Amino acid sequence: MAGGYVKAKHQAAGHDGNFTDELETLFFKPTNAIEVDFYQKFSQSSRQEESEGINLSSWMPTFLGTLQLGFPENVSANAFLQSSDMEVPKNVASITNASSSSSIAANQEKPIIVLDNLLRKFKSPNIMDVKLGKVLHDDSCSEDKKSRLQKVSNDTTSGTLGFRICGLKIQKNELSIGLDTKFCESDDEDYVAVNKFYGRSLTADNVEDAFKMYFARDYLTQLQRESLCDVFQKRLMLLYNTLLDEDVRLISSSLLFIYEGDPSSWEELGDRHELLEANYDPDSSDSEDENAGSKCLSSLSLIDFAHSRHVPGQGYDENVVMGVESLLQIFSNISS
Ligand code: ADP
Ligand code: MN
Repeated sequence: MAGGYVKAKHQAAGHDGNFTDELETLFFKPTNAIEVDFYQKFSQSSRQEESEGINLSSWMPTFLGTLQLGFPENVSANAFLQSSDMEVPKNVASITNASSSSSIAANQEKPIIVLDNLLRKFKSPNIMDVKLGKVLHDDSCSEDKKSRLQKVSNDTTSGTLGFRICGLKIQKNELSIGLDTKFCESDDEDYVAVNKFYGRSLTADNVEDAFKMYFARDYLTQLQRESLCDVFQKRLMLLYNTLLDEDVRLISSSLLFIYEGDPSSWEELGDRHELLEANYDPDSSDSEDENAGSKCLSSLSLIDFAHSRHVPGQGYDENVVMGVESLLQIFSNISS
């Protein structure tokens, strides 16, 4: 069936109602106006003139537009023009023509953002969602929700370290088999989904174990696992510097860690990591390697801006920067 939505296959955390297209190049997320605004403000195209270097948008999935059920009104033609991947416009076209009777109809009242599917360059993605910040609520939130979120923060590493692991979707490995069954669910294939209660059960003293488990892919060599830790550590450093220059409040946003678990892809790419993937770069004509554009071994992205906002002139986000500092410390511990 052409032009259908399918449920996103691998999600590390979050709500269930996200979709992808059949070729899995796009990610559709029903969301709120705040996240739409944030993407519109920070998407690559709207900031291109501003700075040529690394900025917040360099860490965000490419934003292709919004979709209202049955009306492909805002899926930006601009984004298509910039896309070097000719499949993308085709996929959007087929999906926006799909009938409104599809399963996504349940979210009719919500705007849907169309993003680059961050998994599309991976054959066997291993994914971890890390929520940043000690303060997890924004000002608009009800007293009830506020006290609930405050309690979660107080009881978890959100409060002590400024980040919390929300969930993982990884290939089973020698460390994941030791997980308490209440924290995980094996799926049909080779994967295990680790739920939010696992991350909530961790403390500052043992959260490192979760990172060790995340990287313990059986079929990667010790050297390859070390190179993963190393490249994520470098990315975190770079992200830290980016955040110091951005006037934002990223309430309840996450870092999405992804790495390739398929050993033959590592061989194919010669163990080479790109520090920062250029998403949909129209100028990327350096086709020295056929696969360089369509595959990668690992990536780090900022996602989930449903409570985040731009605060011009108010300085960097201490709440989130503290979480990244803690993560840097963890990576320095596990890689030594
Ligand atoms: P929620 O508001 O439900 O928490 P998120 O934006 O955090 O939604 O997304 C939930 C999950 O979906 C993430 O943990 C991640 O695994 C997956 N995800 C989010 N954005 C993308 C994307 N652009 N590409 C691929 N997977 C994504
Ligand atoms: Mn989330």
